[in-house]
Amino acid sequence: MGTVGREMVDMDVEELVELLNRALADEWLAYYQYWIGAQVLEGPLRGEAEAELLEHAADELRHAQMLVDRIIQLGGTPLLTPEDWYEWTNCGYEAPTDPSVRRIVEQNIEGEQCAIRTYRKLVDLTKETDPVTYEMALEIMRDEIEHEDDLEAILDDMKHT
Ligand code: FE
Ligand code: FE
Ligand code: MG
Repeated sequence: MGTVGREMVDMDVEELVELLNRALADEWLAYYQYWIGAQVLEGPLRGEAEAELLEHAADELRHAQMLVDRIIQLGGTPLLTPEDWYEWTNCGYEAPTDPSVRRIVEQNIEGEQCAIRTYRKLVDLTKETDPVTYEMALEIMRDEIEHEDDLEAILDDMKHT
């Protein structure tokens, strides 16, 4: 983004970039948690859950791309090393040490709930100050809400099998 594009942002750009980098750390950890969870999954509804987890993993990677594009537009530097992911994350990482479908889906639901709250804060913060980041955060939040709903539907299906 050029000079005027940055001037349009009516808040501390450094603070905004920091928040976007925190969300970037979350997205990478969420991507891996979904992807590795899909590999080790065991138990009933494994096929349905595997497809959903892989789809969500792809969405998280796309979110990471959206965040990096915006960070660079704002003149910031995206996190450059995986070591930063643990240091910067809001939502953390839950290793799928119990490979049961139920446990893995529960862990990912917790992650989504944290993601929804994180993007809600970003949406509120940017609503009046940076319409471009606002639109991006809203789009991602919409996806995270759908993710939580999809995962809860899997738990619900398990009750009826
Ligand atoms: Fe995401
Ligand atoms: Fe998600
Ligand atoms: Mg889905």
